[in-house]
Amino acid sequence: MTMTGCVFCRIVAKEIPSTVVNETEQTIVVKDINPQAPTHLLVIPRAHYSTLLDCGDDALLAEMMATARDTAQKLGIGKSGFRLVVNTNEGGGQTVFHLHMHLLGGRALAGRMG
Ligand code: 5GP
Ligand code: ZN
Repeated sequence: MTMTGCVFCRIVAKEIPSTVVNETEQTIVVKDINPQAPTHLLVIPRAHYSTLLDCGDDALLAEMMATARDTAQKLGIGKSGFRLVVNTNEGGGQTVFHLHMHLLGGRALAGRMG
């Protein structure tokens, strides 16, 4: 289901341009517009769920994580290391209310969690 006015639904529909680095049946992987690391990608489900708490589709959540893993390997940052983040609700730092997973890598991320 597409939510009118949702920026990530529009990215999935290719109504807003983005740099697509991978696509699977249920997800699209794009470059973050405001990268926080040399590699900063967003794994976005094609279906709209506002937050992780709203998604009861555990198979989709598994596909998101597997897609992030496969994409990291494909980009050659598997060995050097990467981080997966799902910000949830305002207190968790979520700003776009369409479920997504950040894939960050390409620099040392050790140290603080957030
Ligand atoms: P959140 O804070 O919700 O976890 O992350 C939202 C992310 O989406 C941010 O890192 C932000 O830079 C990214 N973002 C917001 N709007 C766009 C957009 O139009 N295109 C792309 N590629 N990324 C976006
Ligand atoms: Zn959406």
